Amino acid sequence: MNIPSGITFIERGWLNCNQILLTSAKDAVLIDSGYGRHAGDTLALVKQHLGPRRLSRLINTHCHSDHIGGNAMIAREFRCRITVPEGEARHLKPWNPEALWLKYADQYAPRFEFTDTLMRGQSFSAGGLTWHAHAAPGHDDDALMFWNEKEKALISGDALWQDGLGVVFPSEDNASALDRAFSTLDAIAALKPRLVIPGHGAPFADVAEAIERARGRLAAFAADPARNARHVVKVMLMFNLLERQSLRLDSLASYLAKIPVFRDMNERFLHCEYSQLAEETLGGLVKAGVAKVDGTLIRPLIRA
Ligand SMILES: [Zn+2]
Repeated sequence: MNIPSGITFIERGWLNCNQILLTSAKDAVLIDSGYGRHAGDTLALVKQHLGPRRLSRLINTHCHSDHIGGNAMIAREFRCRITVPEGEARHLKPWNPEALWLKYADQYAPRFEFTDTLMRGQSFSAGGLTWHAHAAPGHDDDALMFWNEKEKALISGDALWQDGLGVVFPSEDNASALDRAFSTLDAIAALKPRLVIPGHGAPFADVAEAIERARGRLAAFAADPARNARHVVKVMLMFNLLERQSLRLDSLASYLAKIPVFRDMNERFLHCEYSQLAEETLGGLVKAGVAKVDGTLIRPLIRA
């Protein structure tokens, strides 16, 4: 993959989003900071790739736990500007764990203070390139993605990965969020990127194919909200499993019944006993090869 000079891409495992450093000779801007419990690893990686450069700014694509978890530590270490999408500011000041999926999905992010905000239509310079902020609603309605016209490169966050995109919640009329995710894909297609640098997984150049795959997934979810709800349960539980590294098999049903996101999906779309939801969800994760039952414990089979 030919990544333009001035862009350093740091690929992470699934609990952490990727880090992207936009570097010039003297300083650098970091896009997204990973998950809170791995903030020390993130800091070490960023320092290693920074070398003698100064980190002048951290910009978040959106404010989910796997993208903002290192913000507090990065701010302490580098005393740099922390920039969040304008739409996220209301969730952060005052700090609102409900709105950030933290309580909703049993995720963790250390509290941080942002310095300023960025909104669609605005731009910033980093790594010798100008990056334009575009709205990227769907997975997170306040999310931004960053476009450089010269290199035709897009920093997409969770709006588009090579194989998929971040979960998009079902709704009763099954429109809204999925519609917004579709229009974000349309906006990406209209830019005609030569390179997409995603929040998870590797950078890619076969952008049209990736957009088609993502559209196909969204269309399947739009046709079947319960399927989407089951997907949300699986993805969110996998996240919890990666964070904890094990869950007790005999407490899985009660865990699903306790955490709001699982209750929400079940009460609105699935309507099943929690023991059945536990069995089906775990079955799905095992079948996908991402988790295993090890005696009385459930363990992840992929790298956190
Ligand atoms: Zn993410």
